[in-house]
Amino acid sequence: LAPIAQVDPEIAELIVKEDQRQDQGIELIASENITSLAVRQAQGSGLTNKYAEGYPHRRYYGGCEVVDEVEDLARDRVKDLFGAEYANVQPHSGSQANMSVYFSYCQPGDTILAMDLAHGGHLTHGAKVSFSGRIYNFVHYGLNPETEALDYDQIRAMAKKHQPKLIVTGASAYSRIIDFAEFRKIADEVGAALMVDMAHISGLVATGHHPSPVPHADFVTSTTHKTLRGPRGGFVLAKAEYGKKINSQVFPGIQGGPLMHVIAAKAVAFKLAAEPEFKDYMEQVVKNAAAMANELAAKGLRLVSGGTDNHMVLVDVTPLGLNGKEAEDLLGSVGITVNKNAIPFDQKPPSLASGLRLGSPAATTRGFKEAEMVTTSRLIAEALGNPESAGIKEKVHAEVLELCKKFPLSDD
Ligand code: PLP
Repeated sequence: LAPIAQVDPEIAELIVKEDQRQDQGIELIASENITSLAVRQAQGSGLTNKYAEGYPHRRYYGGCEVVDEVEDLARDRVKDLFGAEYANVQPHSGSQANMSVYFSYCQPGDTILAMDLAHGGHLTHGAKVSFSGRIYNFVHYGLNPETEALDYDQIRAMAKKHQPKLIVTGASAYSRIIDFAEFRKIADEVGAALMVDMAHISGLVATGHHPSPVPHADFVTSTTHKTLRGPRGGFVLAKAEYGKKINSQVFPGIQGGPLMHVIAAKAVAFKLAAEPEFKDYMEQVVKNAAAMANELAAKGLRLVSGGTDNHMVLVDVTPLGLNGKEAEDLLGSVGITVNKNAIPFDQKPPSLASGLRLGSPAATTRGFKEAEMVTTSRLIAEALGNPESAGIKEKVHAEVLELCKKFPLSDD
């Protein structure tokens, strides 16, 4: 039972290095978070050894009596957390959760209406480079050029014109509330089913900080590792009538054996997300994103849609004479990790992009409150406003390190 440092010093060293990188930088990637020790213990457990093709109490392998209980707990907890009739916790990722819904409800070539990747949608919402765009006839709605928010009149008009089988909403880069009730109305007007991909906002939905899609949607998909603060993975919720079909599309449709260690870690995350402390955490996530938005705007940066209602802020960096890649690299060099992102009607290719996407979940987990978010925003504005100044970079990096030291990553 030799520890990893003896068995594989190269990997052990890289793990330590990555832990240090995470500890000594401010993580503002909106899709990331810092998992609790309990989640990591479940994920690092011996449950990884177990094959369990099938579903609890109907497996294709022996010895599944213990992992059956694990998966039952995970399914029951996520159904309770979101008030859903059916859940499947086996998808290995958010992409596979989406794939399982498309495969269970649509046929190749069917028309699906979804949000444009360039306006904040996800690759699996019909991008040509994704399986989704290759298999189905996706048509895309975008944002209103004036408000940079969803335009329900445009979505309704497109739905009427294209008569989709399925309408998809949910986003990777959208900082405003999504009106799921309105999407339901539009879907009903054209006889389409509605799928909501709540990957980014599932933590907010769990605590009531974003309206829930569950009462309105036929299918709800999500990741577990973003605002929900669980292990890397996905799940599907649905009306009970769709359960059998989705089960058979997850396994054996697109996956083999479920990752029982990850399902155990999902169960832990669902339990934690139902506790009052998680509601306080989510409240702080939203307050922190708002504090960041206000301070960045006060420093003269242009925010897409003018601000935020959730955990993320999109910044247009072109008025600063930068592109997204330059801004990402610049902030990376001072210890602030962000990702470049397209902004609505972006003129630049995705490899450069015109914007940055900033999120508060990970910084909030390590204890940042509004004051630290204001300081972080000031540092961002200083760095982006002085791309050529080595002196400013040095000063900003020193302040980043000081903040990180004050809020070390903890093991709870
Ligand atoms: N859906 C949305 C809205 C996302 O933002 C993401 C991930 O960024 C996914 C799905 C895909 O999740 P995964 O990376 O686990 O496949």
